[in-house]
Amino acid sequence: MTDLDPTARTRELLAAFPPSEVDRLDFLRARFDAGLAWVHFPVGLGGLGAPRALQAVVTAELAAAGAPDNDPRRIGIGLGMAAPTILRYGTAEQQRRWLRPLWTGEEVWCQLFSEPGAGSDLAALATRAVLDADGVWTVDGQKVWTSSAHTARWAILIARTDPTVPKHQGITYFVCDMTDPGVEVRPLRQITGEAEFNEVFLTGVRIPDTDRLGAVGEGWRVAQTTLNNERVAIGGQAVPREGGLIGMVAETWRTRPELRTPELHQRLLQHWVDAEVLRLTGERLRQQLAAGQPGPEGAGGKLGFARLAQQLTGFEVELLGEEGLGYDDWTLRRPELVDFNGREAGYRYLRAKGNSIEGGTSEILRNIIAERVLGLPPEPRTDKDVPWKELSR
Ligand SMILES: Cc1cc2nc3c(=O)[nH]c(=O)nc-3n(C[C@H](O)[C@H](O)[C@H](O)COP(=O)(O)OP(=O)(O)OC[C@H]3O[C@@H](n4cnc5c(N)ncnc54)[C@H](O)[C@@H]3O)c2cc1C
Repeated sequence: MTDLDPTARTRELLAAFPPSEVDRLDFLRARFDAGLAWVHFPVGLGGLGAPRALQAVVTAELAAAGAPDNDPRRIGIGLGMAAPTILRYGTAEQQRRWLRPLWTGEEVWCQLFSEPGAGSDLAALATRAVLDADGVWTVDGQKVWTSSAHTARWAILIARTDPTVPKHQGITYFVCDMTDPGVEVRPLRQITGEAEFNEVFLTGVRIPDTDRLGAVGEGWRVAQTTLNNERVAIGGQAVPREGGLIGMVAETWRTRPELRTPELHQRLLQHWVDAEVLRLTGERLRQQLAAGQPGPEGAGGKLGFARLAQQLTGFEVELLGEEGLGYDDWTLRRPELVDFNGREAGYRYLRAKGNSIEGGTSEILRNIIAERVLGLPPEPRTDKDVPWKELSR
């Protein structure tokens, strides 16, 4: 392949690897190597250094030709959180090792951030990492609510490497090999009956220093890249007009006239307008993203997404009446992804409860918007300058 024009490259890829004739994985690897995985990434890392907006053109052309995709929902944490962090803070060797199998879905990623005593106050985390003379870190601690840990090959992990300095300063960011014998993954059952997330116990886990992202003690700053991208990944996805949940509810409304009442009609219209406002806000967020890294504004998208998802799933259950309340399947399942579209209204209603918690709670996102977007006075933080080991826990 010769030039860096994404459209020409797409045609060359399709000619060299006709989707109907080649294996799915071979096609995905070739697509990555052609720079058509995420066109805005650098050449050699699945991209062409092209404007991010061109990705949609490439993706549409490939889909029209019947090309397989990389099942982005199954590997959302890798794509949405690990990849942008590795791109920004990884060494050339780390980027070369991790990005290709991450993008093709050959290696699933999870996020070992939250702990029993450190969720919203993430910087309070207590998992310890200690470096030995051979350049290997030993990690001990417990993480919780870890989505996809049961399918993950790698994890992004933050751990405390210096307890003598204030809590934000003594943290370091690592990539953890989930096949290490010291990693124990236990299912946690959710309100839906599924166990899509886990408790993860880390006992003497060994991480070579070469699997650190960013400088020792700079983990909080690295984690901000992950968290800002996480909010956009959850709340800023491109959806067509009347796509996603509002599309499903509108479809029921259109095809089931017997369910309609004037009062529900008014509320449906309001939800439709809210969904459209959120969709256009997401569009603006993506344009802002195209000009750089996501900023604190992404918190607004995630906040709006969670609120609308809960309102719409509640509305759907109400609209369907008895039928909507019919969810009674609490079989323990270990899903690879959250499948809203393939499940019933009762499931959606229950699963949407987690939307205002995962990726930062709505209360915390409001704090972020107040302080970092609107510039309002910050919450009092009495522990800011106190060494972590002196904080009461
Ligand atoms: C479905 C799901 C998937 C998840 N997946 C992952 C994952 O893959 N990896 C991972 O690391 N974590 C994951 N999480 C964890 C999630 O990020 C945390 O649950 C979240 O950050 C909240 O932390 P907490 O549960 O400790 O609640 P707490 O921090 O104890 O908060 C309890 C309540 O107090 C409120 N609160 C706390 N502090 C303040 C404040 N200063 N001002 C106002 N209100 C406040 C909170 O908003 C909340 O309502 C997941 C959670 C869910 C529900």
